[in-house]
Amino acid sequence: MYLVREIRMCSYEKLRNDKSVEECHCDQLTELILVDKLTANPIHCFKCNNEVDPGKLALKNELIDLVKNWQLVYKALYSLYLDSDEYEHWAIEKLTDIKGQVNVDGLRVAKELSKIHKTYYWWFYQVEHVAPIQCPSCNQNLKRESGELFAKCERCLIVL
Ligand SMILES: [Zn+2]
Ligand SMILES: [Zn+2]
Repeated sequence: MYLVREIRMCSYEKLRNDKSVEECHCDQLTELILVDKLTANPIHCFKCNNEVDPGKLALKNELIDLVKNWQLVYKALYSLYLDSDEYEHWAIEKLTDIKGQVNVDGLRVAKELSKIHKTYYWWFYQVEHVAPIQCPSCNQNLKRESGELFAKCERCLIVL
């Protein structure tokens, strides 16, 4: 029993930050967002947008690895978008392609996480642009409830 616990702790560390980042302290966890903000943990709270400690969700090792594998690729593309002139446009193409591998994987991970706790996938758009008002997958108008930080498509589990 003790050993299992030890292994699980180590596994959570993959998603934990060494430096202190803003963590979710909401009384009740409502929904989650899968969004990489260039920190260790891409699982955020829908309500406050801060990171949710993976231990709170009791994620299995396989699911943590799935999250990490998606995040590695996403982080690489996102870094190219932010830091490179040469690859910026190429990175934007990949990040905004609904059929692109990084988004196919991200949506799949959000779906897997949703089996434990409902999770939306944050959709990339360029910061200097206005946020799209339609879902990039089904083209329906996104809905934003008053007071919420994100607009969402319930059907596709996408927020932006
Ligand atoms: Zn929160
Ligand atoms: Zn949709």
